[in-house]
This record gives sequence, C-alpha cells and structure tokens, in this order.
Amino acid sequence: MSGVMCDLAIIGGGLSGGLIALAARRARPDRRVLLIEAAPTLGGAHLWSFLDSDLEAEDRPLLEPLVNYGWREFAVIFPLYKRALPFPFYSIRSDRFDAALREAMPAESILTGRRALGVSPDGVVLEDGTLIGAGGVIDARGPGDLSLLDLHYRKFVGYELTLDGPHSVRRATLIDAAADPAEGFQYMEMLPIESDRLFIEDVRYESWPDMDMADHGNRIVNHAARFGWRIRSSARGQAGILPIALGGDFADYWRSGGEGVAKAGLRAGLFHPVTGNSLADAARIARLVAEADDWSGTALHAMLHDHAARAWAKRAYYRRFATRMLRDTAPAEGYRMLESLYAMDADLIARFHAMRLGFADRMALSLGEGPMPVGAMFRR
Ligand SMILES: Cc1cc2nc3c(=O)[nH]c(=O)nc-3n(C[C@H](O)[C@H](O)[C@H](O)COP(=O)(O)OP(=O)(O)OC[C@H]3O[C@@H](n4cnc5c(N)ncnc54)[C@H](O)[C@@H]3O)c2cc1C
Repeated sequence: MSGVMCDLAIIGGGLSGGLIALAARRARPDRRVLLIEAAPTLGGAHLWSFLDSDLEAEDRPLLEPLVNYGWREFAVIFPLYKRALPFPFYSIRSDRFDAALREAMPAESILTGRRALGVSPDGVVLEDGTLIGAGGVIDARGPGDLSLLDLHYRKFVGYELTLDGPHSVRRATLIDAAADPAEGFQYMEMLPIESDRLFIEDVRYESWPDMDMADHGNRIVNHAARFGWRIRSSARGQAGILPIALGGDFADYWRSGGEGVAKAGLRAGLFHPVTGNSLADAARIARLVAEADDWSGTALHAMLHDHAARAWAKRAYYRRFATRMLRDTAPAEGYRMLESLYAMDADLIARFHAMRLGFADRMALSLGEGPMPVGAMFRR
C-alpha cells in the first residue's frame, strides 16, 4: 500500500469531475487537485451539446476552449411546421476534453486507469491499494442508485457520417420529428460538421432502459436515405440511455451515492428532467467549487448538497412536464406538447432549456393551445 495527499480528490474524470478539475486548477494553481478516473481516457466517448443560452455568463470561459463545433442557430422540424431558433448551439467531443485537461493540469494530477473502491469525505482507496488522503473529496462517478427515482429514459445512438458527396445542411437540427408519431416518441438530431460530413442521432423516449442498437442504426441509415445521401463511412459512434426523472425522493437518491460525501454530476441528481442533459449544471458546479475557499469534505458536502437539493426542488415543474409528455398522454399527444412548446416565443424556449421559466412563462405555456394545461401544472 502507498499513500498520496492532496487538497481535493475528484473521483470520476467524466463531464462533471473533469470540469471541476479544470476550474479548480485555474482558480487555485497553488492547491493540489487529483482527478481519478477508472477508464484510460477522460470524458468517455461523448459528443456533449448545449445551447449557449443554457449557460450562465460566468461559465462560458471554462467551456469555450473545449468546443469543437458551433452553429449560429438551430432548427426544429415537426409535422405542422419548421422553425429556426436564433440561439448558438455548441458541441464538445470528449477527445478534446481529455486533451484540454491533460494540457491544463500537471501530469501527476491525473490518474487514469485507476478505479476507486472506497470513498469517504476526506479519503479514497483505489483498487491497487493506494490510499489517498484529501482535504476534501468530490464523488463524480456518474449516477447513484437510479432505482430510487421514478424514471423514463431518453435513448439515443448517433454516428458521425461521411457522405459520398456534399449535403446542403447548414444549421443544426435539434429535433426532426417529422416521422410518424405512431411509431413511438422518436426524433432525429442532425449536426452538419463539414460539407460532406454530419452527425446524425436517433433519439427516442421510452419507459424501459434497454436499447435496440440495430433499430437505431437502421433509422439513421433510413434518415440519410430520405435526403438521398449515400454513406461512405461512419465514425465516432455514441450511445446513451439518459435518466428522465419524473419524480423520486432527492434525499434518498443523494444518500445512495455515499453518505456524507460531496457529489457532482448525475450523482448529485443534476440533470434536466425533460432532456436528461447535464452540461450546464456541470459547468455551474465547477465554478461553485473553484470559487469556494473551503475545500474540506464537510464544507464541500454542505455546499453541493444544498445546491443540488435546491435545484431538485425548483425543477418540480419540469418533472411534471415530462410526466405529462411521456406518461400521462399517448405518444402522439406527447409529440404535440413538444410541437406547441417549440412554437412559442423563442426566448421562452431558451428559458425552458435553461430551466429558468418564470411565472408568466408557465402561464403562457398553459394558455390556449399551450403544451401544459393548468391542471397538469399543479399535479404532483
Ligand atoms: C453518449 C452520451 C451523450 C450525451 N450527450 C449529452 C449532451 O449532448 N448534452 C448534455 O448536456 N448531456 C449529454 N449527456 C448526458 C450527460 O451530460 C452525460 O451523461 C455526462 O457525461 C454526465 O456527467 P457525469 O460527470 O455525471 O458522469 P460521466 O461523464 O459518466 O462521468 C463519470 C466518470 O466516472 C468514472 N468512474 C465510474 N466509476 C469509477 C470508479 N470506481 N473510479 C474511478 N472512476 C470511475 C467513469 O468512467 C466516468 O468517466 C450525454 C450522455 C451520454 C451517455
């Protein structure tokens, strides 16, 4: 057995752990931060996308150097209409995330290929017997016990495709739901990368967590065929099954990730209840940690727990929205909710994504043909 000491140990070099390490290193280069990741690389195999308007202004500088691709606006396509929304949209590939972290941090601060077995508020035991003593520990190892939450799932498979010739797609398409809703709650996402290269993802919402990879793959091929494109090759595939929280007890979920240990990312329950996305939350948490003076395990636990508990409570409206869209209505009706949401005022849509809807926005979503009838707004 050998021992290592540091000021802050972050377990899990995925999105949230990596961003905390980056922000902490920038804010306090005098302190020793250790980032511990079980896999050989940081960030897994992801293409993380986000709307610029999801972020708080102070969080942009952390993300800007990580961005691979950006679009000035994005489109949504439904059976009844097509629309471009004037909000920049960005994507980060995890290979760039890995490279940026390795460039910013001293080599001895990143331990990849090292699995944590035991985690406490001020210490970690690795599989190889190494003991790490830390002023404080943050556990960012991905989800806690998801069985404690009432879940639906957003599943997707996406590929970066190189075509035989150029395509004419110019803007990112966040949702192409032109397909028949009778097939279930499904849509395509499409991100043009170069004149003959684009990323296509098949997305579906379902109540069970298994995935039919072949079916997702076929839908991507069929989608390309709809545009008359011939696929020369495919690369950088990604697949995900994201939790969509319709309900659940935050306190139980938090405890399931480790009693008394500070948590971040999905482990802290910080994800959008309708989309499952967590990038903006991860950036915010990274700034909170970097700006905190006290990195002791107790102080970090108090700060991150209070932040996550407040966020969970404030997100009840979005969980009700997801419940109505996914469970209380038939798939065709759920589609119509999305269709009428994206027909609303553009700034309101941005606030929906950023989970910053105000009272007037919620009323607007409930009026007339709005997606969220008043009764559903207050149901638990
Ligand atoms: C394929 C995919 C695409 C996504 N795309 C988007 C998107 O476009 N926008 C968005 O906002 N969200 C997206 N999400 C959702 C969410 O943002 C991601 O899942 C995000 O990576 C979650 O961050 P995290 O830090 O909580 O967990 P992760 O990023 O999964 O990080 C957890 C890390 O902990 C490591 N780990 C686990 N156990 C141990 C251990 N015992 N010891 C050491 N390390 C350990 C894992 O290897 C992993 O690297 C996507 C999810 C997936 C799966």
